[in-house]
Parts: sequence; C-alpha cells; structure tokens
Amino acid sequence: MTAKIHATLCGHLETDLGRLLPGGTGTVALPIPAYVIEHAAGVLVFDTGLHAELATDSGRIGDNAKMFTARLDQQATLGARLAAAGIDAASVDFVANSHLHFDHVGGNVELPNARLLIQAPEWKAGRHPKLIEYGVYNPADFDLGQEVQELDGSFDVFGDGSVVLVPTPGHTAGHQSLQVATETGTMLMTADACYFRRSLDEMLTPGFGFDLDQQLASMRLIADLEAAGATLVFGHDPDQWADLGDAPFKQLGST
Ligand SMILES: [Zn+2]
Repeated sequence: MTAKIHATLCGHLETDLGRLLPGGTGTVALPIPAYVIEHAAGVLVFDTGLHAELATDSGRIGDNAKMFTARLDQQATLGARLAAAGIDAASVDFVANSHLHFDHVGGNVELPNARLLIQAPEWKAGRHPKLIEYGVYNPADFDLGQEVQELDGSFDVFGDGSVVLVPTPGHTAGHQSLQVATETGTMLMTADACYFRRSLDEMLTPGFGFDLDQQLASMRLIADLEAAGATLVFGHDPDQWADLGDAPFKQLGST
C-alpha cells in the first residue's frame, strides 16, 4: 500500500539564522509546514502550523515573539488550507505532531474529531508546569479534549507499513518524524529533528534543545534512512520550500 502526501505551508517565522544553524548569518523566513496524508483507510494530518490568532496578534506565543516574528495570512491557516482544498476538517481521523512547540500544533484546534498521536515523553513534557511557565509549551494549543493516544516508539498508523511515525528524539523529549511510502518511493518528513539540508550535511544542531547528543543520533538515523533510499523533507528549510509558494497544497512523491 501507498499513501499520498499533500504538503502546505501554514505561515512563516522570521528569526536570526544563526539561532538555528551555527555560523548562519542574517534573517531567515522559516517555512512552517503541515502535511495531509491520504490513505485508503483514513486521513492523517502531520504537524499543523501556526495558530490562526497569530495572523493578527502574537500575544499567544509570549516571549517566543522576542525571537520569532510570526507571518501568517488568514488564508494560510490549516483550517483555511483544508477548506480551500475541499477537505472536511471534521472528517480528519488522526493528527500527529512531531512535537508540541507552537509552530507545529497551532492548527490542532481545527481538527475536532481527530485522535492525537503523540510520543508519550512529548505528551508528558508538554504538560510539565515548569516548561509551560517558561513558554516552551502551551497546552491551550494541544490539550483540547481530543482523544490522545500516547505512543511508545515507532507506530504504524494504518497497520500496513505505509505511514509510520518514527521516534527522532533530541530536539525535544519525544520528537517523532513521519515516514510515508508513496507511489514514487519512501519519503521522510524529518520535522525539527533536522531543520535544514545543511544541518544534516554538516551534522549541525542548534544551540538549544532537549538533548543535543540524542538529536545527533536521530540525525544519523535520518542520514541512514536517506542512504537506504528515502527522500527527506526537512523541518524548516527555505530552499526546499521555495517552490511551494502560496500553493494551498502540493502533492509530494507523485509522478
Ligand atoms: Zn519548528
């Protein structure tokens, strides 16, 4: 079995490149992706972009706004993207977040009937009082009353090996990437286990993170998967996303 990947951008974050890539200079506009995975047995959304409120007011992200300037058009929220593509948000079966940072969970609220698939350590971290106090996590983005399925390792979403959540911890305690078998081969959405092509080529981690040694191990796993034939989609690589523009959705891994 294969599945289809429909990728879109739900906003950008502007920040200093050096913050995310050692040696980087200048300002970068980070693409904030979301992916709709269409499988014969159901629909999964992987990462959900920026919260709709950020189109008009950055108060929601607190002190994160000192480092990251949110850029979000009303028509680029996950809900607007789904509506434009004729996808009924209420019929989405699963939402999986790579991790619970604000730029990956903002659209969870738009998927009322989806079951949340999250690694257990990430769910625990996301509800830790100190991490909430420090603004690392905001449960208002993801602790929404949806059914929560805590995962303990790799998880085969539809049971046929075509859509698999793969633990890639380090950036956060329970980070996960998504591997999808498409018509044209395997694709891996790394999310923030690897921000940029250059991060992987030069094995560069940002200066912050839950456990940078663990993140390097996850990056080695990602490099191994690429060597075995997987096509990588990086977390926030502007070069890779340049051709996506404002397209509501672009299908990846199709002929
Ligand atoms: Zn991110």
